[in-house]
Amino acid sequence: MNDKEDHQVGQKECHKEDQKEDSHGVSPHAVSRLRAARLARSAKPFLARGGIKGERCPGCRLVPSHCMCSVRPEIPTRSGVCLLMADIEPLKPSNTGWLIADVVQDTYAFGWARTEVDPALLALLADPQWLPLVVFPGEFVAPERVVQDVPPTHAGQRPLFILLDATWPEARKMFRKSPYLNRLPVLSLNPEQVSRYTLRRSRRGDHFCTSEVASLCLDLAGEAHAAHCLQAYLDVYTHHYQQAKHQLPPDWQGAAHTRLRDLK
Ligand SMILES: [Zn+2]
Repeated sequence: MNDKEDHQVGQKECHKEDQKEDSHGVSPHAVSRLRAARLARSAKPFLARGGIKGERCPGCRLVPSHCMCSVRPEIPTRSGVCLLMADIEPLKPSNTGWLIADVVQDTYAFGWARTEVDPALLALLADPQWLPLVVFPGEFVAPERVVQDVPPTHAGQRPLFILLDATWPEARKMFRKSPYLNRLPVLSLNPEQVSRYTLRRSRRGDHFCTSEVASLCLDLAGEAHAAHCLQAYLDVYTHHYQQAKHQLPPDWQGAAHTRLRDLK
C-alpha cells in the first residue's frame, strides 16, 4: 500500500488478456496485463503523464537506457500473491506490485471495484490448493479473524497472500466493501515482526510499499531467500527509477546490484 494521493476507484479490469510475449521473450505477467487493459481505456491526461514523453520498456516500465530486465530474478516460491489493485494503481510508474509479479510466479492481479467482482477472483479464492490470507492491520478487524503468522497448511496447500495495492484510504474502503474477503483470515503483520525485518534492512522511513509487504509475507512463510531477492530487486528498481528521473546512468556495480547478484 502507499499513502500518496487518494483517487476514485473505477471499473474492474479484465486480467485475461492474450499472452503475447514481450521483446525479452517473457509472457507479460498479471500486473502487466492489468496495466495494458487499464491503459487501453485510460483518458488522455494519464497517457501524457506516463507514456508519450518517452519510450518505455514493456518488461520493466523504465526508459530503455535504464532497462533492468536482464537482472529479473527467477525464484521458485511455494507462496502465491493476489493483488487487488485500486483503479489507477497499475498505471503508476512507481507501483511495486509489478515487481512482485516479476519475482513471484504465482502472482494474480485484479482491478478492484466496489460494485463488481471478477468471477476469476472468486474462483481463485475458492481453489483448495490455496490458503488465502488477507494482509491487513489487525486493529481494524474482529479479533477472531486475525492471525499473526502463516497458519500451518495441509499437504499440497500453499499460502496465498492477498495484498490491497492502494493508498491507505482506498485500502480501507476495499477491505470494508469486499464481502468475499469477510470469511478469510486476516494476517496482521505485528510490530515485532516488522521491526525484526526492518532491523535487517536499514530502511528509510517507516512506510512499507506493496513489494515490501510481500517480502515480509514470504519471510513469514519460511521463504527467506525469495523475500530477500524481492527486497534486493526493489532496491535495484528504486535505484534505476531515481537515476532515470535525474538523467544519470544506473550503477551496475553499486550496492543495490551487488546485493541482488550475491543473492542469486
Ligand atoms: Zn526492461
